[in-house]
Amino acid sequence: MLMPPFELHLPNTVEEACAIAADLLNSGDEFDWIAGGTDLIPNYKWHINTKPHVISLTKIAGIDTISMTEIGCMARLSNIAESDSVHPLVAEAASKVASSLIRRNATLGGNLCLDTRCFWFNQTEEWRSSIDWCHKCDCGTGSDCRVIPNQNTLCVATYQGDIAPNLMVLNATVHLIGPKGARSVLLHDFYQLDGMTRNILEPGEFMLKITLPEDIADWTGSYRKLRVRESWDFPEAGAAAAWKKGDRGTLRVATTALESIPRRHDEEVASANGDVKAICDAIYKSTKPVNNTSLPPRYRRNMIKVLVKRACEESK
Ligand SMILES: Cc1cc2nc3c(=O)[nH]c(=O)nc-3n(C[C@H](O)[C@H](O)[C@H](O)COP(=O)(O)OP(=O)(O)OC[C@H]3O[C@@H](n4cnc5c(N)ncnc54)[C@H](O)[C@@H]3O)c2cc1C
Ligand code: SF4
Repeated sequence: MLMPPFELHLPNTVEEACAIAADLLNSGDEFDWIAGGTDLIPNYKWHINTKPHVISLTKIAGIDTISMTEIGCMARLSNIAESDSVHPLVAEAASKVASSLIRRNATLGGNLCLDTRCFWFNQTEEWRSSIDWCHKCDCGTGSDCRVIPNQNTLCVATYQGDIAPNLMVLNATVHLIGPKGARSVLLHDFYQLDGMTRNILEPGEFMLKITLPEDIADWTGSYRKLRVRESWDFPEAGAAAAWKKGDRGTLRVATTALESIPRRHDEEVASANGDVKAICDAIYKSTKPVNNTSLPPRYRRNMIKVLVKRACEESK
């Protein structure tokens, strides 16, 4: 579990971070961004897809804003959870991430860009070597995916972040920046259904902040999370629901920890004509978790009906 060597870059401004990223890209050097390090550092200690360079966002001033309509990528989850100025659903989701110690370091950007997880992958180097690796970190061997063998085109590792589904139902926009400039997309269009690619970030780009619509205070909602130990575990399944106060017709539902991406279920909600049981059934049908987290996929899939129902009923 020794940390591999890497060169750490500590830019003081967003512009400097983009310039360092551009230089590394031009010289063909691979790198990772690091924020709180609560996900990246354990992966590095296990020698999982390490890079020779790491760019830290911790020294950049002004990217940890917390307000009702804007949250910076370096906002710590403990500050979001305890803030009176964020939407209650976002505070609730942040308070359910990991443990209080981890939340003090963990950031919003790191949570939304969290690496996908799989019990064939989140293991020590020795353990992974003993099973001859897997497709996501094959050490040049061309190893197979252990969950869905005989296809080395897709990794189905699971996205297990808590905050994304909550921001999705509140219609959050993510703002990205990199050497080629800035761009913004809706959070529910940010993720890509591949456990290795994970999202639409281009080489050198990072997530600067998220923004929420101006009328966000008029919305209410609820988040329900299934986990093994309440004290700190990742979600094994999670459902968020939100709707505009007094208007159930605006109900939105999103889930997490069931596949490689968190997903908003607009089609399932639209097809159910406001009937919560029909929404649960439709989401159950469209979701197929695989066997790569602590709890069996059939149980997680069955539980999603319960979580969606509770999240929707809570917000009545
Ligand atoms: C024991 C334990 C329990 C946990 N439980 C939970 C849980 O219940 N729920 C949950 O959601 N998470 C959980 N986590 C995962 C993690 O702690 C959190 O998701 C945390 O918010 C990650 O943020 P970070 O700043 O530490 O990310 P980092 O470790 O710094 O980064 C995570 C990933 O995001 C990338 N990244 C970071 N910031 C940016 C950015 N601004 N732009 C682009 N890429 C970026 C990094 O390159 C890295 O790939 C747990 C972790 C541990 C160790
Ligand atoms: S889903 Fe397959 S390729 Fe992805 S981490 Fe798990 S075993 Fe490896």
